[in-house]
Parts: sequence; structure tokens; C-alpha cells
Amino acid sequence: MKVSIIGIGSVGAAVATAVKNTGLVHELVLFDRNAIRARAAAEDLGHASAFSYDVKITAVNNYRAIRGSDIVIIAAGANQKVGETRTDLLQANVAVINDIVPRVMANVDSKNVKLIIVTNPLDVMVMFAQQLSKLPASRVIGTGTMLDSARLRAILSRQLSVSTQSINAYVLGEHGDSSMINWSSASIGAVSLNDFCRQTKISLPATTRKTIEHRVHNAAYEIIQGRGATWDGIAAAVADLVRCIINDERRILTVSTVSGQGSKMLALSLPRIVGANGIVATLTPKMDATESAALRRSGRIIRTNYDSIK
Ligand code: NAD
Repeated sequence: MKVSIIGIGSVGAAVATAVKNTGLVHELVLFDRNAIRARAAAEDLGHASAFSYDVKITAVNNYRAIRGSDIVIIAAGANQKVGETRTDLLQANVAVINDIVPRVMANVDSKNVKLIIVTNPLDVMVMFAQQLSKLPASRVIGTGTMLDSARLRAILSRQLSVSTQSINAYVLGEHGDSSMINWSSASIGAVSLNDFCRQTKISLPATTRKTIEHRVHNAAYEIIQGRGATWDGIAAAVADLVRCIINDERRILTVSTVSGQGSKMLALSLPRIVGANGIVATLTPKMDATESAALRRSGRIIRTNYDSIK
């Protein structure tokens, strides 16, 4: 399995480590317009191979070297600085996606390749990448709210004193400030979240839920404030997605992909079954009226951002 990563900054380098450590790829190709940075990352990660999986890792300075890639991960572009939102990156990163996607497509097998989009603002970048690549939407996959859902599960795990592995709770919509928590479909093991709270005598009132939503929305801002950027969480999410594709696991992940056409075209995150050919199916979870309205609002915000750059 050959995987290429475009953009070897904080995120791309961490993604390379996490993907290598899945033990599922035999070749990793790293490309960055800053060739020195990519070469240094390949060198450093190559040394790590002595302690784990022996993966062929190369830094390249042209796109021909990505030929034969099964998966291409795009993690290039401007990142948020303190005080910036993901949407602030829109203009700069449209140019980055416009630069990268045609070059990628000129060198991969369009019948097989899966594109994983990481660059922010995520959902709009998925829309652009899908339009530029002309690949089926099922094979242009944004990490979407995988990370936001992981953050939610981590917070709930502490609140409920139960393993994250037993929590099925999803953040949906935009990977951004308008994302929403789908409380109505949340379950812990085999019981609904509400039943779990009743049975364990844990109180999770509306005010606490609001605070949790606020913490999920603010997680990236807090991490950026503290360490300049975020990379560990997203790297783990990408590696999980890569694992799901390579092993054809058909797990349910909240990834972002394009649906609809023309003025109805939109990418946002919903629970989707992911396998070897990318997105296999999209599920419609149970939602109350407030949640449905929040999801629709999130979709409108993504579409407005997309239209603002046409
Ligand atoms: P960074 O500044 O550390 O690295 C970005 C890299 O992209 C740089 O090395 C730069 O040289 C390279 N690059 C820029 N334009 C390029 C081009 N046209 N071709 C090739 N390489 C190019 O930034 P980072 O912290 O690694 O973040 C990268 C992106 O990932 C940002 O857009 C950030 O917002 C996003 N991100 C997404 C998530 C998510 O959940 N989807 C999480 C964290 C970060």
C-alpha cells in the first residue's frame, strides 16, 4: 500500500508518523513545496523505522513520485494563528488546493485513488478538491468532524467515567464553529445516553451539555493558544481513516464528503460507512428539531463560504 502526503508541516509530519505506525503501508511519499522541510521529516521518520515498521519513506520534489499511490493525503496550507478562525484561511487555502489537486490527479490512477483532505476550512476544501479532481464524491473524503467527535467522546468519558471506546456520540455538520452535537443519537454501550445517565444517577442537564458543546468548539483554539498548532489529534484521526480504508473495515466515521449538485452541492459531516472504496453509505441519525435546525444552519454557513470565493 502506497500513501502520499502533500504538505509536511506540523500536521503532515504527525500524519506521516501515525500512518507509518499503522503498520499497513509499505511506502510513504512526502511532498512539500518546502523541500528542505519534507526531506528533514523523511530523514527523522526514517530513523524511527529502526524501532518499528520498516517502511520506505521518501521526500520528493516533484509529483511524478506519487505515481501508484492508493491514498493521497492533503495536509498543506495555512493554519490558524491565535485569534483566527478556520474560515479566515479560506482564500489562502483555496489557492493551495487549486495548486495541488490538478498535479496530484495528473499522476495517480483516477480509478483507484482515494483523496483524504485535511486542509481547513475543511468542508469547503473538500468541495473544491472534489470539483477539481472530478473523482466520485465517495473517494474525496474530508476528516470532517472525526476529530470533533473524538474531542466530544474524550470530554464525555471524563464526565461519565466510562471508556471513550463505549461512547457513540457524534459531532456533525461543519468542521468548524457551527458544528453541532447530535445528543439525540448518543449512546453508551447498548443504552441511550439519557438511559445511561438515569441508570448511573449522573446528571447531564442542558447547561452542562451547552458547556460541553462550548468546549468542543473551543478545543482547537485552546490548543493553538498553548502550543501554536494542533497535530496529534488530527494525525490519529487520519491514521484511523487510512486503517479503515486499507482494511475495508466499514466502520462508521463522521467524515465529510460532497452531496448534491449545482447550487445544492455541499460537503459536511454525517455518520458514514467507510471501506476500501471510500464512503459506502451515509446514515441519517435521529435528531430533534433543534438539532436539525443547527445542522441546516451549519450547511448554510459552509455553502455561503464556498460561494464567497467563486
Ligand atoms: P504548517 O504551516 O505547519 O504546514 C503547512 C505546510 O504546507 C508547510 O510545510 C507548507 O510549506 C506546505 N504548503 C503550503 N502550500 C503548499 C503547496 N501549494 N504545495 C505543497 N505544500 C504546501 O500548517 P499545519 O499546522 O501543518 O496545518 C496544515 C493544515 O491542516 C492547515 O490548513 C490547518 O488548518 C489544517 N488542520 C486541519 C485539521 C482538521 O481537523 N482537518 C486539524 C489541524 C490542522
